[in-house]
Amino acid sequence: MQVSHSYPGSCELSVVIPVYNEEAGLDALIERVTAAAHAIFADRYELILINDGSKDGSWNAICQHADRDPRIVAINLSRNHGHQLALTAGLHHVRGQLVFVLDADLQDPPELLGPMLEVVREGYDVVYGQRVKRHGETAFKRGTASLFYRTLASMVDTHIPRDTGDFRLMTRRVVDQLNAMPERYRFIRGLVSYIGFNQTAFPYERDARYAGETNYPLRKMIALAVDAITSFSVVPLRFASHLGMLFGLAGLASLVWVVWAWMQGGAVQGWASLAALTLILGSVQLLVLGVFGEYLGRMYMEGKQRPLFIVSEVRRHPIAANEEPEAGAVAASETSEAIRVAG
Ligand code: UDP
Ligand code: MG
Repeated sequence: MQVSHSYPGSCELSVVIPVYNEEAGLDALIERVTAAAHAIFADRYELILINDGSKDGSWNAICQHADRDPRIVAINLSRNHGHQLALTAGLHHVRGQLVFVLDADLQDPPELLGPMLEVVREGYDVVYGQRVKRHGETAFKRGTASLFYRTLASMVDTHIPRDTGDFRLMTRRVVDQLNAMPERYRFIRGLVSYIGFNQTAFPYERDARYAGETNYPLRKMIALAVDAITSFSVVPLRFASHLGMLFGLAGLASLVWVVWAWMQGGAVQGWASLAALTLILGSVQLLVLGVFGEYLGRMYMEGKQRPLFIVSEVRRHPIAANEEPEAGAVAASETSEAIRVAG
């Protein structure tokens, strides 16, 4: 789609998209997002694409688009930081009063911007996409995702809506709050729920990936789930006392049984089972220690206070390059970034 190239004085909407190895679908993505944003905001929007250390030609493709279109802001991270931190980097650079977050693979239809905007205008600060149907995802992925949301809900006080991703339209005050949260293990959809204000679900059908394959293998999904649980709940830390009580009661019951058998003049057989019991208890203790270690390790990493992300380059079209982000839009972590603005 060809649109005019005058850069807006004011930016009403920032679209934020993290990109990791998405070269094949980038042209289609930018075309559809541009069409959707332009139809509503004309030139008063920006499209922030964060290259999260892609190994394919994504960064070159993004740069080509940024060199042609002043509404496109290209951010190159120094290496792969992972989806949540790449998104965090993008959110630290927004200039718009509204922020629209979506994935680069076109699983979240950009055309829903209009309908979601109508809901925001009814007085909501966050309109999050809630998946009622997922096309092109395996039964395993759907099953594990569903199990994850249900487990999380049972452990967490914050209401984290089920079957949501990071696809959402938010007002700037929510993003400012999010950017003020310094934590490293970020489960962004949970943090947004935690922030509060008026939030509502927007049911939609999730499309299949436009091109390429998922960058969220089982390993990363488990890591995200552990991040989510540990950053929102201390329930696993209480497992130790619950298990302790359970095994203590079981021990007492077996003691009563042994004494009773002795008073009857007999002896309880099967002390070989002691070995099994010792092993079970040992494994439970190590498991509990592992859970403690998980929390302790996170505290250790958080304590270092390293920047959440490192930017190697921010590239804007020459027309747009002299427009600096609004004050407050860029957080403290930016001080450690090497920023080079093209043009
Ligand atoms: N992504 C990223 N860094 C990563 C992995 C993924 O920026 O290390 C981006 C990816 O390009 C996409 C979004 O995060 O825009 C979601 O990833 P993906 O579509 O692979 O996840 P899925 O939809 O399969 O859960
Ligand atoms: Mg996807």
